[in-house]
Amino acid sequence: MNSGFAALPASPVFRLLDASVPRCLVDAPALAADREGFARVDLTIAEGRIVSILAAGTATPEDSLPGLDLKRGIVFPRFTESHTHLDKGHIWPRRANPDGTFMGALTAVTADREANWHAADVRARMGFALKSAFAHGTGAIRTHLDSVGPQVGISWPVFAELRAEWAGRIALQATPLFGIDHAVNPDHMRAVLAAVRQHGSGVLGAVTYMSPNLKPGLEILFRAAIDHGYDLDFHVDETNDPAALSLEVIADTAMAMGFEGKVLCGHCCSLALQMPQAEARVIDKVARAGLAVVSLPMCNMYLQDRQPARTPRWRGVTLLHELKAAGVPVMVSSDNTRDPFYAYGDLDMVEVLREATRILQLDHGATDWVSAVTTTPASVTRLDGLHASALRAGAAADMVLTRARSMTELLSRPQSDRTVLVAGRAIDTTLPDYAELDTILTA
Ligand SMILES: [Zn+2]
Repeated sequence: MNSGFAALPASPVFRLLDASVPRCLVDAPALAADREGFARVDLTIAEGRIVSILAAGTATPEDSLPGLDLKRGIVFPRFTESHTHLDKGHIWPRRANPDGTFMGALTAVTADREANWHAADVRARMGFALKSAFAHGTGAIRTHLDSVGPQVGISWPVFAELRAEWAGRIALQATPLFGIDHAVNPDHMRAVLAAVRQHGSGVLGAVTYMSPNLKPGLEILFRAAIDHGYDLDFHVDETNDPAALSLEVIADTAMAMGFEGKVLCGHCCSLALQMPQAEARVIDKVARAGLAVVSLPMCNMYLQDRQPARTPRWRGVTLLHELKAAGVPVMVSSDNTRDPFYAYGDLDMVEVLREATRILQLDHGATDWVSAVTTTPASVTRLDGLHASALRAGAAADMVLTRARSMTELLSRPQSDRTVLVAGRAIDTTLPDYAELDTILTA
């Protein structure tokens, strides 16, 4: 067991004393925060739930409950991953990206899917990824599932099995992924809607780019979402071509059709390359349409602006600060893990927060950016109904405990010694061995 706080009390009722908690993630009145946004609290845990969150030092000591002094260590609720690809994960050893480009990724993944993605293969890689996410302290995940041709009938039933298997440990949600050109094909939409209805999570989606089918395809998806009460999730403008502005068409369509569900737009890379007037116009529409935006900074840094033997000149990420200032719910997430779209990654939201802070410069400003890996994604995906995404009395005692006492301590080390509590008990945070996948990846 890899646990930073080995002395966690064995009693079902205990206290975590002098924890630093992000003030924006605590539902408790009258807590003062320091300049980094941390409040110092004592948490009382009973029978797997948080009973109270009080200012540090104010919990009544006379009842002599066993307690563990966290010595100002930062405590988070378990994290929410709003955008990843469990079905693609970990194929890198058998299918690397030939040149590190977006087109190289697309071609390699398509070839691997058509050759290898039978149910046992998908199940093994998804299961491996979930073990990593769980050990790192993630409590809820929305994954995209490649949904074209025969893969629809393979990946969705496997996903539903894993969702049941992992219930109580990680809350899982899936959304279909296909190019918007497929949306105008009635046979395709019939198959996808059947899979979502039978195995899905009330979310529909696609990849949007500039295509003659963009507007009609979006109207078909929004209509289906309205008819079935689904939310929507799009991969949007994942390119450095400023002519790509499908984000604006999504906002226009949402407003024109009076869509009332949630819409999450991922990537939106080319928004960062607009002229000021277009930038302001699109951000205003995104805000008015009620869209939310997830940035995938690690994947964007890897793929965007890559040309052989040329140093990249931009970071690839969208305008997260400007969107947030306009009132748009914004978040960050892992995206791909060890597949041709991103050679690295392990579904570790501490890593995502660390890298997002550096790539997007989330430091030196607002102190509530931790909501971008917790409460905001949980709310937009509605996974907050399935797991404890904030710290509040009455919620499950699902938490990530670190020894870091400040942002510089938190983000300077990988926090490999973090303790993860699920229902008040420390879980085994040993990561799965890569060798577990050798048999399927070296066939
Ligand atoms: Zn993605």
